[in-house]
Amino acid sequence: MTPRVALAGNPNTGKTSVFNRLTGANARVGNYPGVTVERESGRWKLPGLEVELIDVPGTYSLAARSPEEQLAVRALFGLDGENRPHVVVLVLDATQLLRNLYLAMQVVEAGIPAVFALNLMDVARKQGVVIDMPALTERFGVPLVQISAHTGEGFAELAKVVERVILHPDEGRGIVGWRYPRSVEQAVTRLLPLSAAHSPAEGRALALWTLLSVGEGDELLDVPTTVRQEVEAIRRLHPAPEMDAEIVGARYAFLDGRPLVRTPSQQHSFTERVDAWALHPVAGLVLFVAVMGMLFQALFSWSDPAINAIESLFGWTGDLVSAALPAGLFSELIVDGLIGGVGSVVVFLPQILLLYFLLGLLEDSGYMARVAYLVDRAMRALGLHGRAFVPMLSGYACAVPAVMATRTLESRRDRLLTMMVVPLMSCSARLPVYTLVIASLFPTGNLLGFFPIQSALMVGMYLFSTGTALLAAGVLGRTVLKGKRIPLLMELPPYRLPRLRTVLWQMWMRARSFLTEAGTVILACTVVLWALLSFPRDVQLSRDYEGERVTMVAGGASEELLDAADAEERGERLQHSYAGRMGKAIEPIIAPLGFDWKIGIGLVGAFAAREVFVSTMGLVYGIGDDVSEESEPLREKMAAERHRDGSVVYTPLTGLSLMVFFALSAQCMSTLAAVRREANSWGWAGFLFVYMTVLAWVASFVVYQGGRLLGWG
Ligand code: GDP
Ligand code: MG
Repeated sequence: MTPRVALAGNPNTGKTSVFNRLTGANARVGNYPGVTVERESGRWKLPGLEVELIDVPGTYSLAARSPEEQLAVRALFGLDGENRPHVVVLVLDATQLLRNLYLAMQVVEAGIPAVFALNLMDVARKQGVVIDMPALTERFGVPLVQISAHTGEGFAELAKVVERVILHPDEGRGIVGWRYPRSVEQAVTRLLPLSAAHSPAEGRALALWTLLSVGEGDELLDVPTTVRQEVEAIRRLHPAPEMDAEIVGARYAFLDGRPLVRTPSQQHSFTERVDAWALHPVAGLVLFVAVMGMLFQALFSWSDPAINAIESLFGWTGDLVSAALPAGLFSELIVDGLIGGVGSVVVFLPQILLLYFLLGLLEDSGYMARVAYLVDRAMRALGLHGRAFVPMLSGYACAVPAVMATRTLESRRDRLLTMMVVPLMSCSARLPVYTLVIASLFPTGNLLGFFPIQSALMVGMYLFSTGTALLAAGVLGRTVLKGKRIPLLMELPPYRLPRLRTVLWQMWMRARSFLTEAGTVILACTVVLWALLSFPRDVQLSRDYEGERVTMVAGGASEELLDAADAEERGERLQHSYAGRMGKAIEPIIAPLGFDWKIGIGLVGAFAAREVFVSTMGLVYGIGDDVSEESEPLREKMAAERHRDGSVVYTPLTGLSLMVFFALSAQCMSTLAAVRREANSWGWAGFLFVYMTVLAWVASFVVYQGGRLLGWG
C-alpha cells in the first residue's frame, strides 16, 4: 500500500505552494480559507519510496466548528471513511510561529507521527526573526525542517526526514508537555472508553476534540450517540464555556511559557520603545484616535477633487456621445445606461484607492497589528474579533471590498458575523443621499449658537450607523451567530518602513476586486434600471408635448423653456414607466414611513446602488438625470413638493426618516453579491437583505410616527 502523507496547517502558511512543489501538480494556489476545501492529492517521490500526498484544508484548530475544520479533522483522524495518514507534515508560517503552534500541539496530542515544516523561512529571515530551534525540538519532540516554498530551500531534507518517519513512526510522535486542569482530565477519562480510537493518545485527543466540538452547530459531525450523551452529562456538571476556556487556556499557557522566537536585539529595542507608547492604555489610545482621525480626514477631503474630476469627465463624455449619436433609444442606452453605469462605479475608486493605500501603509509598518490588539478588548465585548476592525473601517468607503477584507478572519463564525454588520457602516454611496436631504430640508442655522445644524446631522448619521453596526454585532453574535470567538494570539511584528511596492500592489489587488465584483453588478443593475425607467414607451400622455414643442419653436421660445418642457415630458413618462409603477405599487408599504410613490421610484433605483437615488429623483422631478446632490433646482423642487391635500411632502421629519432608511437598508446589489460569494451561501445573503430591510423599515417607522406623535410632522 502506498504510504499517505497529509499536509496540514493554518490557512495561508503555504500548504498549496509546498504541495505543488512536491507533486509538480498545479493545484490552485488561492490565499484565503475556502479555496482548498476540495481535497487535493498527488504523488510525491521520496528518495526511497513514493507516497500519496494530500492537501488538507487550512485550519486554526481541531475544534471542529467550521466546515474547513471538520474536513481537516476527518482527514487527520481518519474519520468517515478517510484513511489515516501515516505522517502529517505540518506546514507552519515561520513569521507567525506562535499562533501556528496551537494547531501543532493538537496534532502532537493526537499521537499522529508528524514533521514540522517551518515554511516562509525566506521572509522570516528578512524580517530578522530568529527561531530557537533547540528549544522548539525539546518542547515538542518532533523533527523540524526549515523550508521555503519560494526558494526551494530545505525540500531535499524534508523528503529525507519524512521518509525516516514513515519507516520509524515513533520518531514523529512528539511529547505532550502540557497539563490540563483536573476537571478536564476527569471528563477525558469518562470519554475514553467510548471512543473508537486506534491508540490511547488518539483516544485522549479525540476526547478533547469532542469536548470542544460537540454542541450547537455540529450537525455535520458524525459523533456516536453514546459519546454525545456522555458529553451532555459532563456539561451538566461543567458548563461548556468554562471547560473550553480551561482547555484552550492550558494550551496557550504552554505556548506563552518560554520565548521560542526572537527578533534581533537592536530592532527589538526600537520596537519595544515605540510600543511602550503605542500600546500604552492612555497614550496608545490617543495615538489610535489621532491616526484614525487622520485617516477619515484624508478619506473625505483628499479624495474630493478626484471624485469631482471623475464626475465631470463622465458628464462631459456623456454630452459628447449624445451630441454625436442621433437622439433615440440607442443613444439613451449608451449615455444613461452604460456611461452612467460605469461612471457610478468609477466614482468610488478615489476613496477606495486612498483608503487601501493608507491602510496598506499602516499594515506594512506594523501598526495595524497593534490596532487589532488595542481594539480587541472592546470588540470582544461585542462578540467581534480584533481583526474585524479593518473590514469595519473599510465599510466607511464601500462594503464590497470590506466584505472581501473579512478573509483575514480565521473562523467562519467570526467572518460571517463581520460580514453581516459591515454593510451597516455608512458607506460613501450614502453620502450624496444625506447631502441632498440635509441641504434641501434642514435649516442652515447653528446648534447652541456655534455648531452648524447641517454638519451636526451629518456627523449624527455617521455615529448612528456605527452605533447600529456595533449593536447589531452584539445582538447577532449572541443569537443567530452564537459561538466562540477565536482568541487573538498574534506576534507583534517589529516596526519597519512600509515598502511602497507591497503597499501599491495590495492596493491594486483590492481595487481590482472592487472593480470586477462591484463594477459588473452595478453596471448590470444600472442598465436594467435604465430599462425600467424608460419602458414602456408608447403611453398615453396627458398633454400633446410634441405639438406644444412645435408651437414653442415657431414662437421662438428660448432654449431653457424648451428644456423645461422636455423635462416635464420625461417626468410624466417616468410615472408610466415600469419603475414608476413599482414605485406606486410599494407606496402602501412605505407610506407609514412618510414616503410617497416618487420616493418609491427613488428607492427602486437605489437598489442598483444607493447614490442612484439622487439622479432618479432628478428624473422624477423632471429636472433631468444630470443632477448631483448639489443641484439647486432639485433641492428647490423637493422643498416645494406638496401632497394632494396641499401639505408639504418633504418635512424635516420625512428627511430624517429617509436618511434612517438609507442608513439601515440593504439597498446594494453588489454587497449582496459579494456576501453570497464570500459566504458561499445564498442563505446568508438573503438573511442580510431581510434583516437590514426589516430593521430599516421599523426604524423609519418609529422615527416618522414617533415624530408625528411628538407633533413634528
Ligand atoms: P495555503 O493557504 O496554506 O495553501 O497557502 P498558499 O500555498 O496558498 O500560499 C499563501 C501565500 O504565501 C501565496 O501567496 C504564496 O505564494 C506565499 N508563499 C507560500 N510559501 C512561501 C514561501 O516559502 N516564501 C514566500 N515568500 N512566500 C510563500
Ligand atoms: Mg491552499
